[in-house]
Amino acid sequence: MTVSGKAFVISLDCVNAELLDEWTATGRLPNLARLRKQGIVGRLNCRSVSIEADWHTFYTGQQPSVHGHCSYDEIIPGTYRSRVTTAPRSVCKPFWETLSQDGAKVIALNPVHAAPSPIASGVVITDWLVHDAGHYTKLASYPPELAGELIARYPDDPVNPNDWGHSINANPGRLLAAKRETLRRKVEVLSELLRSRAWDLCYAGFDECHEMSHLFWHMHDPSHPRHNEAPAAEDPLATMLMELDEVVGRLTADIDKACAVIVVSISGIGPNYHWSHLVDTILRRIDNPVDSSGGTYKFLRTLWNRIPHSVQRPLYGLRHSLRETMLKRDRRKQRAFALPLNERAGAVRINLVGREPNGIIAEAEYDAVCEDLSEAFNSLVCVETGTRLVRAVMKTRDVLDGPFLDRLPDLMIEWNVDRSISAVTSPRTGEIRRDYTDARTGHHLNDGFLLISGAGAIGEAFKGDVDLAHIAKAVIAHVRSAQAPFGARVFA
Ligand SMILES: [Zn+2]
Repeated sequence: MTVSGKAFVISLDCVNAELLDEWTATGRLPNLARLRKQGIVGRLNCRSVSIEADWHTFYTGQQPSVHGHCSYDEIIPGTYRSRVTTAPRSVCKPFWETLSQDGAKVIALNPVHAAPSPIASGVVITDWLVHDAGHYTKLASYPPELAGELIARYPDDPVNPNDWGHSINANPGRLLAAKRETLRRKVEVLSELLRSRAWDLCYAGFDECHEMSHLFWHMHDPSHPRHNEAPAAEDPLATMLMELDEVVGRLTADIDKACAVIVVSISGIGPNYHWSHLVDTILRRIDNPVDSSGGTYKFLRTLWNRIPHSVQRPLYGLRHSLRETMLKRDRRKQRAFALPLNERAGAVRINLVGREPNGIIAEAEYDAVCEDLSEAFNSLVCVETGTRLVRAVMKTRDVLDGPFLDRLPDLMIEWNVDRSISAVTSPRTGEIRRDYTDARTGHHLNDGFLLISGAGAIGEAFKGDVDLAHIAKAVIAHVRSAQAPFGARVFA
């Protein structure tokens, strides 16, 4: 039976984009390769420091300075403390809600951290059996009774207890089996929805590779320093990715040829070589090359990363409060400080007069300080190879604008780390070391994947990287006027 719709958006949450590109090109993922043959493939990038911001950029088509999400851990305005927040803000609408208000019939399964606001026609299920379950997210739906029906039908969460902790404590066989089951349930429900109701737009999110990539990247990547410690088991990432490919094949097999199929992976995952947790150390060394403070923080971080997740979980609130109390004292004295929990890029906030309670840098000095710090970060090189530690430093005010600009970091530092760098140096800072004590071996990158197939995908007109914020606009434009080739008004 042919299934009709105007746009079918599938997000394969946080899969490594290079892997997707290579394996679709070589046919190792045969179903994505088939779609690729009929369409086009590109890379996605974004102007944020975290996956949390990216989700909202993807859904709303707005940058973080407009939709207001910076990261899980955001600064509390007027203080030196941060708070964990994931609640969606109502300032921007996700693309399915916008289209629903136009009269489009919508199915949306598992957007992460998106509240299921009432829609005119269709169903929205959010955060069902996702990798953050039990941490930040909770199953919800519109209509609301649907969530209860899902719980009645599938009372347990096969992933629980969640392995969202240390790579060493995680069990790849257990997690792979559990993720297979969550995927099976999601496909079962989605297939029923696709066949039982008329729809113009379907969005389906599958995050089965996300947590697996954080925990088991070293099993997949022979060049990773912990690869030799890995159990001699099948590569859980490859196995799960091939299952996702099979799911994409099954879901799209009967889709009407006129329907645009859009497969995205926002923010990929790769080896965890970033230096984001050392931004404060670097900032202190820029201003004082003999600074040796931060030892207690480093010791506590290392200790925390060694504790099994089951012990960590009830202590998250206490850990956050202690960390913020420790960091607050230093932040008020520094001309700039790091914002925590930014997975993909370093985040620097200037201690600005009038914005921070104990501001040191006047507005008139702001540009010069940003320039000085950018230059200092850019001059850091790997001791062994002489390659730069930093690919780019982005001054947020140069690239973004909007009502939430002041909640974002002032500088976003993109790391140039395709291999493990244990020490860097520069004339201003001297040598700084990074010991590999991280809990997880995979981490987010600013490198997403985009595949567009069917509905006269625009092919040649779509070249180079695509900004993540453009996807929602392209989907909305296409569903509103499905005669135009997908993306013609946005990507061309
Ligand atoms: Zn993640």
